[in-house]
Amino acid sequence: MSGSPLPPLAVTTVGSWPRPPELLRAQRAYRAGRLPAADFQRAADEAVLEVLRLQDEAGVDLVTDGEQRRDNFYSFVADKLSGVKLMTLAEMLEVVEDKAGFERILQTLDVPAYSISNPTCVGKIERRAPLAVDELKFVQRHTSKPVKVPLPGPYLLTRAMFVREVTAPHYPSREELGNDVVRVLRDEVEELLQAGADFIQFDEPVLTELVFTQGRTRTFMCAALAAGKDPAWELELAVQLNNRVVEGFEGRGARFGLHVCRGNWSQDESTLLRGSYHPLRPYLERLKVHQLVLEYATERAGDLLPFEGKELGLGVVNPRTERVEPAAEVRASIDRALRLFPAGRLFVNPDCGFGTFSNRPVNSAQIALAKMKVVSEVARAARS
Ligand SMILES: [Zn+2]
Repeated sequence: MSGSPLPPLAVTTVGSWPRPPELLRAQRAYRAGRLPAADFQRAADEAVLEVLRLQDEAGVDLVTDGEQRRDNFYSFVADKLSGVKLMTLAEMLEVVEDKAGFERILQTLDVPAYSISNPTCVGKIERRAPLAVDELKFVQRHTSKPVKVPLPGPYLLTRAMFVREVTAPHYPSREELGNDVVRVLRDEVEELLQAGADFIQFDEPVLTELVFTQGRTRTFMCAALAAGKDPAWELELAVQLNNRVVEGFEGRGARFGLHVCRGNWSQDESTLLRGSYHPLRPYLERLKVHQLVLEYATERAGDLLPFEGKELGLGVVNPRTERVEPAAEVRASIDRALRLFPAGRLFVNPDCGFGTFSNRPVNSAQIALAKMKVVSEVARAARS
């Protein structure tokens, strides 16, 4: 590992941080072809430096770049992979056969659906550019702390990118697309390890959709695609894809984590999914990752569960609310978790990212900072 070692109850974030207005302006101009890539990257560099400064101020032990260069946690791959095209939901509505079903999904999403784009597979996928190696290297030049790199998980990517009407000419099935997604992610992991990544986190939010909606309305946009088989089959595919990505890399000095939440697109808690991790547990326990990064700060997440042989990244604050959780509340969550996990196998983090979608962050940088300060203070106190 490249950075200094992590303390017990290491404080980290799930990944994203709200982008500043200058960066959002630069991002829009860059996407519209009005700003050269180098100028966009310069604006992003500034934003990452600020996010690093804020994490230092907040006492975060394991830092990220706040995903400042990405438009969101998964669609940024369209810029990096050949064979993948960003399609607006309006464009997708034109190609999908089940238009009525797709429109119903758009209506139930509490997001500005027409402003979000999906990375859609329209050809054989190849890694034209690293997904995150450049992000990692920039952060490493500006911090002495260990660095976490979030990546979209292979199941999420396969699920989102497979839009049968345009993907099937290149990949007849999701499993075949999945094979290439695994290959691309393994290449990325290899380079991240060579560059000294301390923690690689795969984001697989859609796993909860499989168990908590059970044939009712789809909630995640990407889960709306690729008409699902039964949940057990889907979860098995998710386990297989994730395990194939990390296979053989376990002893290379970095931690692997998998993040699962119940949606992080709305401040209206009632639109987000609800249910314990219990039905996912047999699958999560079979993942060859060191750590599960799970949300536990809302009652929607149900009871805290032990996970055999795993570390837990414990969600202790809600990234979507204005209310800054009092120290006593965070302390109570940590104390509860300490009954199931030793301090050395427990990390503390918010339930999910504070940014997620660049054009619609779930919180402000000021509140994110205030929440992370409480988390660090409580973790420090609990260590001693
Ligand atoms: Zn999340």
